[in-house]
Amino acid sequence: MDFELSGDQKLLQETIFEATSSMSQSLSFEDKWQYIADTGIIGTCIDNEYGGLGLGATDMLIALEAMSKGSSDNGLSFAIAAHTLACVIPIHKYGTVHQKQQYIPSLIDGSMIAANAMTESESGSDVFNLQCKAKKVEGQYLLNGSKTFISNSAASSLVLTYAETNPDKGFFGGLSAFIVEKDQYKIGASFKKMGLENCSLGEIIFEQSSLSETNLLGKEGGGAFIFNHSMEWERICLAGIHLGAMQRVLAKTIEFVKQRKSLGQSIGKFQGVSHTIADMVCTLDVARNYAYKSAWCLDHKKNVSKEAAITKLFVSNTVKNFMLNAMQIFGGYGYITEYGIEQEVRDAMAATIYSGTSEVQKNIIVSNLGI
Ligand SMILES: Cc1cc2nc3c(=O)[nH]c(=O)nc-3n(C[C@H](O)[C@H](O)[C@H](O)COP(=O)(O)OP(=O)(O)OC[C@H]3O[C@@H](n4cnc5c(N)ncnc54)[C@H](O)[C@@H]3O)c2cc1C
Repeated sequence: MDFELSGDQKLLQETIFEATSSMSQSLSFEDKWQYIADTGIIGTCIDNEYGGLGLGATDMLIALEAMSKGSSDNGLSFAIAAHTLACVIPIHKYGTVHQKQQYIPSLIDGSMIAANAMTESESGSDVFNLQCKAKKVEGQYLLNGSKTFISNSAASSLVLTYAETNPDKGFFGGLSAFIVEKDQYKIGASFKKMGLENCSLGEIIFEQSSLSETNLLGKEGGGAFIFNHSMEWERICLAGIHLGAMQRVLAKTIEFVKQRKSLGQSIGKFQGVSHTIADMVCTLDVARNYAYKSAWCLDHKKNVSKEAAITKLFVSNTVKNFMLNAMQIFGGYGYITEYGIEQEVRDAMAATIYSGTSEVQKNIIVSNLGI
């Protein structure tokens, strides 16, 4: 067992961290997206022939962690991660050579933004209740239905979506994945939300969207498999953005408790404060080690259903509690906007909801135990 990063991994980590920590936070969303894309991060796991770095899941985790440690724009980091993990990686893995040549270079060089559209108004955790349908008519699929809570919805120029192609076969066998370009879908309402400002969240609508075989990702009926696989990648590697944010906030918190005084001494000298920091570091380190182990399992082609669920469950709980603890330590300064801590709290709150709620992760964990 080797816990040391390789020289190349350290270089990747440093390069992404240096680039993202020097990114101007006043840039527009589009300029920030391009800036991040120019670091090469989106193509971390993509084959060289399509413009990527040809690396693995652990490298992806390292890169996302470094990005989020460097940049405090958690909305942007989430948007980049959702695009990369739930859209680019499945298209790269299951796409035909033609689909990969057509989409992957633009998806990784920053010129195209993708959204992963699975959730519907009556089908969030209940994935078996999808209403979106793709009916085959004279060699074409006619796609109808609407998706909601879709990250990157407003910014998207491509959607990876899932629809029923055969009602008799149910979720496993009856669901297919489609790559849909902008002229074949409408962007619906965008939602105001608690945090993750730079990641739009809204509806995607399909009305008689006319798709051909070339829009089908993988085999007809293979949608559930593709979705589950993309969620395993997302649940493991998305941890990187939370791990990076926690490290960034930890450094700020340590600095704060050293300089903030109470009763004539630094507040870090009070055990009530320092022990909270010890607890924060423990959960961060355990979360980090588990996420790295899970990424290693993904790289070694193990079945990661349980590992992905544990990573998602533990890291998302950890980041929420971590940010709340940081706010408590900052006192009034944590609650006002100037120090950026209340923003971290608001950004962290969705972590136990997206990519499958904590309760759904627990269902997956126990189903892996035969319960
Ligand atoms: C910021 C954000 C970004 C998102 N991005 C995307 C995206 O890019 N693409 C996309 O497709 N979706 C996205 N989603 C949607 C997200 O995946 C769903 O919100 C999530 O799966 C929960 O579905 P729901 O909101 O319908 O809640 P529900 O499924 O209605 O759940 C409500 C509550 O009931 C619990 N519950 C429901 N069923 C069960 C069960 N079987 N066992 C135990 N508890 C259960 C849930 O855990 C939850 O606490 C995003 C959501 C958010 C908040």
